[in-house]
Amino acid sequence: MADVVLHQLVKEYPGGVRAVDELDLAIADGEFFALLGPSGCGKTTLLRSIAGLETVTSGRIELGGRDVTRLAPGERDIAMVFQDYALFPHMSVRDNIAYPLRIRKMARGERHRRAEETARGLSLGGLLDRRPGQLSGGQQQRAALARAVACHPRLFLFDEPLSNLDARLRLEARTFLKRLQRDLGVTTVFVTHDQAEALALSDRMAVMDAGRIRQIGTPTEVFQRPASTFVAGFIGSTPMNLLDAVVDRDTLRIADAVLPVPDTARPHLRHGEKVVYAARPEYLTLTAEPPPGALGGVVAIVENLGVGALVTLEVGEVTVQATVPEGQEPPVGACRWVVADPARVLVYRAADGELV
Ligand code: ADP
Ligand code: MG
Repeated sequence: MADVVLHQLVKEYPGGVRAVDELDLAIADGEFFALLGPSGCGKTTLLRSIAGLETVTSGRIELGGRDVTRLAPGERDIAMVFQDYALFPHMSVRDNIAYPLRIRKMARGERHRRAEETARGLSLGGLLDRRPGQLSGGQQQRAALARAVACHPRLFLFDEPLSNLDARLRLEARTFLKRLQRDLGVTTVFVTHDQAEALALSDRMAVMDAGRIRQIGTPTEVFQRPASTFVAGFIGSTPMNLLDAVVDRDTLRIADAVLPVPDTARPHLRHGEKVVYAARPEYLTLTAEPPPGALGGVVAIVENLGVGALVTLEVGEVTVQATVPEGQEPPVGACRWVVADPARVLVYRAADGELV
C-alpha cells in the first residue's frame, strides 16, 4: 500500500486551460479519500495525472515516498476504474480481468487463476466466459472493479464508477465498494460529483473548484462547517439555506426579521456588514405561533421525502426551506415561523463567501 503526496501540481491543456492549479494534497496510506466537485473542476484530469495518463505541466507526484511524476502508467502500480468501465467488448470477462496481468507479463495459468479467484470474490464466478455486452450494468461495474482489484495495486483511482448505475444498484454498489476497500485496505481516491457518495464512503474528502481544493476534512467536518458558501451550496441532500443578511449591532436582519447572531461569529462582525446567514433545512423548525423577531412566511410548496417533508416558505422576496417530521406537514398557504438552533447557524461574509 502507499500514501500519495501531490506537491504544487499543475496540468495545463493546450490552449491554456489550467485544469489542475498548484494543487497540494496528502492522502494517507489505506485512506478512502473522496474528491468532490462540479463538472469541469478538474477531477478527472487530477486522477489521470496521478495514474500517469496525463503528463503534468509542473509539480510532483509521490507514491509511497517515491517520485513517480515522470514514470509511465505501468510503472506506478495503480489501478483506475472509469465512469464507463472501459471494458474491452471483444474479450470475455475472464480476459478483461486478466488483461492488466498479461501486460505485467504474468504467466497464462497464473493470471487465469487470479482472474477466477477475484471474480468469485465479486460474485462474477459464473460469468467469466461472457462478453461485457452480455452483462447488466451492475455486473459490468463489478467486472471493471475485478480488473482493478486483480492486479493487487498500491492505489485505486475511481472516476465516478457508480454514476452509470440506477439509484438502487448505486446504493448496493456503494456499500459493496466500501466493504471491498475495508477488506483490501488499499489507498483509494474516489472521484464523484455526488455529495452523498462522498459523505458515505470517505474517511476524508476534498471539495474542488476550478482546479483547486477549496476544503479538505472528514465528511463530518465538511458537512457541519463548510468553509465557504461554495462548499455550503454543494454539500447536503437538500441545499443549505443561504440568506442575505445585514449585521445590526448584536443581531442579523433578514427582510423584517431580527435574528440572534451565533456566539462564534459575534466577535468577528462589524455593524452594517453584509453577510450570508446559513442553515440546513434539517436544522430549522417551523412553528405556527410567531416567536419575537422570527422569520415568518407563507407555505408555498410541501415535498414528500418519504419520511417527513421539505417545506418551502416564501418570506417576501426570500425563500426558506425546512424539513418537518412525518405527520407535521403544514398545509400550503398556511403561515409559519422559522426557528433556528443558533449553534447550527453559520455566518459567511458576503464579500468573499468565507466562513466567519
Ligand atoms: P471534471 O472531471 O471535474 O468534470 P475535467 O478534468 O474533465 O473535469 O476537466 C477540467 C477542465 O479541463 C475542463 O475545463 C475541461 O474542459 C478541460 N479539459 C479536460 N480534458 C481536456 C483536454 N483533453 N484538452 C483540453 N481541455 C481539457
Ligand atoms: Mg470527470
